[in-house]
Amino acid sequence: MPDQYHIQTKLLHNNQKIHQETGAVSVPIHHSSTFHQYSFDGFGEYDYARGSNPTRRALEDVIADLEGGSRGFAFASGMAAISTAFMFLSKGDHIVITEDVYGGTYRFVTQVLTKLGIDHTFVDMTNEKEVESKIQANTKLIYLETPSNPTLKITNIKAIVAIAKAHNCLTFCDNTFLTPVFQRPLDLGVDVVLHSATKFLGGHSDVVAGLAVTKDEELGRQLAFLHNSFGAILGVQDSWLVLRGLKTLQVRMNASSTAAEEIANWLAKRNEVKAVYYPGLKNHPGKEIQGQQASSHGAVLSFEFPTKEMTKAFVENVKLPVFAVSLGAVETILSYPATMSHGSMPEEERLKRGITDGLLRLSVGLEDVNDLIADFEQALNAL
Ligand SMILES: *Cc1c(COP(=O)(O)O)cnc(C)c1O
Repeated sequence: MPDQYHIQTKLLHNNQKIHQETGAVSVPIHHSSTFHQYSFDGFGEYDYARGSNPTRRALEDVIADLEGGSRGFAFASGMAAISTAFMFLSKGDHIVITEDVYGGTYRFVTQVLTKLGIDHTFVDMTNEKEVESKIQANTKLIYLETPSNPTLKITNIKAIVAIAKAHNCLTFCDNTFLTPVFQRPLDLGVDVVLHSATKFLGGHSDVVAGLAVTKDEELGRQLAFLHNSFGAILGVQDSWLVLRGLKTLQVRMNASSTAAEEIANWLAKRNEVKAVYYPGLKNHPGKEIQGQQASSHGAVLSFEFPTKEMTKAFVENVKLPVFAVSLGAVETILSYPATMSHGSMPEEERLKRGITDGLLRLSVGLEDVNDLIADFEQALNAL
């Protein structure tokens, strides 16, 4: 797609806009596991659907374009994308990884990769000196996630990429929280961008999916090989659902982020609330870097009550949010990281990361923000 278009235009007017053969304005769902080969000597673009399928390919092309990459890959879940990308590594390699990484990634790195002889060190990714000091001779990868989950810490992507390049390491960035609408890590030098498309990209709590994007041709070739080798591919119906969700990505992100900012500022003024984590707040330590590398603060915030009892009462008192695992949907989702996203993390590690028994994460949806604030107000007043 020509770069002169803004992202909301590109979301609608991309190469998938009109199906070449039929003129269909919605990408056809090709339920075909294999494809007839017209020539004995040379196969066509599609042969077997694990390798590629036109519906999945449409999604892969769209995400590659949105992220400013050259190749996209669609997986059965965010974790399928993340774990497949880790297979760039070999026995004996070492990873430097952000300490407040998504819980499923934490589980994969600590309980699966260690069994394969791939080691790791957790770091505070906002502290560049610490990151550099933890690099070993066998470090092959620096893994970032910004804003981090659930305490919304901001990593300086360019600074970490510079450290990685100086030490010949790859960088992976989980871009689930901001999406390419607000942050494009490949433009900042990251090698592989990863997504849980289950969240904002799909956006409607109706599909589990993952995406990966590369810019470098050789890395793209290697990831295509791993994608096909593991086979954790996204099905055609789910590919179509993510494509459908993407059309409204920017309007959803804009509306939810504006509301999140308002709610964060409102919560910060309430006496019952001990702390609010949101990169748009004046006192957030990462605010300046966020302003340089992203065009918004996003739709997710976290806040903390002094006690578990208050937290429980608040959750029981609110009426509008869904109380659930997940984020990035049209409906507002309230989560309890201690037992949900970070339930697989040992308590001691969890508390070290500020994920206390009083912490709640809020992913703001598309409800009228005044209704959300009124709901939170009655829930707080009832404490
Ligand atoms: C949900 C999530 C994942 C995992 O994605 P699934 O689609 O649930 O497998 C990875 N990273 C982040 C930041 C997430 O929120």
